[in-house]
Amino acid sequence: MKKGLLIVVSGPSGTGKGTVCHELLAKTPELAYSISATTRAPRAGEQDGVNYYFLTKEKFEAMIAAGEFLEHANVYGNYYGTPLGKIEERRAAGQDILLEIDIQGALNVMAKCPDGVFIFLLPPSIEELEHRLRGRGSETAESLARRMGNAKKEIGIGRRYKYVVVNDTVDKAVQDIQAILVAEHSRVAANAHLFEELEAE
Ligand code: ADP
Ligand code: 5GP
Repeated sequence: MKKGLLIVVSGPSGTGKGTVCHELLAKTPELAYSISATTRAPRAGEQDGVNYYFLTKEKFEAMIAAGEFLEHANVYGNYYGTPLGKIEERRAAGQDILLEIDIQGALNVMAKCPDGVFIFLLPPSIEELEHRLRGRGSETAESLARRMGNAKKEIGIGRRYKYVVVNDTVDKAVQDIQAILVAEHSRVAANAHLFEELEAE
């Protein structure tokens, strides 16, 4: 049995991770999304157990203490975390799993799961990043300034990832990520079973 990939997409806030991953999942039915837990309040239209598991701070901290997260981080004042939720068992059964998480979380996963496929999403320019954050309508002047300041520091961390994708258009970014998945599935190291099966004939 071929092991499933652990695909980690991250990048600065406002680059388009949520948008690109949503489209990638719609176009790649064999990919499973790892639903994160968070202490932030649901936004309009978000459902518990679909977009996130919405937890109280107390419940989240109890899960941290019980070792139930692969990684967790405090992002702009709220906790976010990836529940272990049988990730390794699902991969062993051949399931590819997508994590859309912030940069701190991705660095923690890099330390724990070096075989992950780490993809850094970049905006086409700093001006376009600011334009997207403003356009999302989710930021106050203060939080916009904070995110833009952080983004400039965070961009350099992308050098530590395995792949970089520029989110110019959503379609092109999704195609690039799909191409990365094809390449990762074609690695000799990921296909030992093919050689073994043919050699056993
Ligand atoms: P993130 O999850 O990285 O914080 P979002 O997915 O929320 O970013 O995207 C931020 C804003 O930019 C949203 O308003 C989204 O509609 C917009 N956006 C995302 N990708 C693109 C793109 N390729 N071109 C134009 N706008 C985009
Ligand atoms: P939002 O509140 O806009 O949904 O997400 C805010 C940030 O938290 C985004 O950068 C998103 O990628 C990140 N995030 C979502 N889930 C997780 C998670 O499980 N772990 C970490 N470390 N970050 C997450």
